[in-house]
Amino acid sequence: MTSDIPSTMHAWRKHMGNPDPIWEVVPVPTTPPTGFLVKMLASGVCRSDHSILTDEKPRPWFQKQFTLGHEGCGTIVKIGDQVSSDSEFKVGDVVVLDAVPGCGSNDCPECSRDLPQLCLRCQHAGIGQDGFHAPYAAIDQRGVVRIPEGVTYAEAAVATDAVKTGYHAITRRGEVKANETVFLFGLGGLGFNALQTIHHIGARVIVSDVKEDLLEEAAKLGIPRKDIVPVGKSPTEFITENGLDGKIDTVLDFVGMHQTFRDAQVIVRRGGKIVCVGTLNHENTLDMKNGIRKRLSFIFSYGGRKDDLEEVLELIAKKVIQPQVVGKAPSEFPNTLKGLLAGQIKGRIALMFDQ
Ligand SMILES: [Zn+2]
Ligand SMILES: [Zn+2]
Repeated sequence: MTSDIPSTMHAWRKHMGNPDPIWEVVPVPTTPPTGFLVKMLASGVCRSDHSILTDEKPRPWFQKQFTLGHEGCGTIVKIGDQVSSDSEFKVGDVVVLDAVPGCGSNDCPECSRDLPQLCLRCQHAGIGQDGFHAPYAAIDQRGVVRIPEGVTYAEAAVATDAVKTGYHAITRRGEVKANETVFLFGLGGLGFNALQTIHHIGARVIVSDVKEDLLEEAAKLGIPRKDIVPVGKSPTEFITENGLDGKIDTVLDFVGMHQTFRDAQVIVRRGGKIVCVGTLNHENTLDMKNGIRKRLSFIFSYGGRKDDLEEVLELIAKKVIQPQVVGKAPSEFPNTLKGLLAGQIKGRIALMFDQ
């Protein structure tokens, strides 16, 4: 198999100073000593790809040029020489790739506190360092999870962010329980998977989105009509008119706009939680008096851990979560980004390599 690996490849790259992705020839990555060279099968396109292309606020690990793509699935084609011979992974295994797996060191301030997604020492694939929008990618052995039976390559790719991020926010950060009533803002690429996660937990969920077709999808999933805020209806009025004042235990904000963050603070019950995931507005206003008098918890969530990824892959295998994802040719990357920004893409697109 090794002899089939070319020395160069085309990849979708970020060049600092240029907001457009560049399709250019680069060397195939070398196999990391403690990891694998992976032949890519699917790489999810994320709104974050656009943020990474356009937001150049320096983060310490960012390189001047790098391959984009942080949601991947591929086949192991080479094994690093420091990978233990009793590793459970071998050449030919199809694996799901965690873009920010952490360094795992006991002396790492983040990894030692179970926050690998915040590690500053590890590879950040597609987020400032070489990622997955390419035919080959390098990954540390900490960043791979075996794909379960019944999960497609495209589903596996988007599981790593579009499903895992919401799952982490709901289960580990918000600690949403079956007896709660939850209000969910946003049924986009992450929010719709989040809805399926909450539904699986068994909590009652009130949903709000500006798109009629997404609310219809929620209804098809089994969300009662009485728990769907009609398009154009104010969420705060909806809550009052439906006798839900003081009943919303947790608000999950997958939008993060001025309106959703403001409404969240109004509708959440006293002692409740607001879990922030979306950042469509980079800054929002927090009503301090309201927050203190209601003794609210504001919880921010970012990424997730490997155990989250393993758990969501199992839920996808069991069809408990069915990510909406469509495969496209790698050449479709720029159009896909435009479609995402224009709100024209329902669910997710994965670039399919090796087809
Ligand atoms: Zn993403
Ligand atoms: Zn670390």
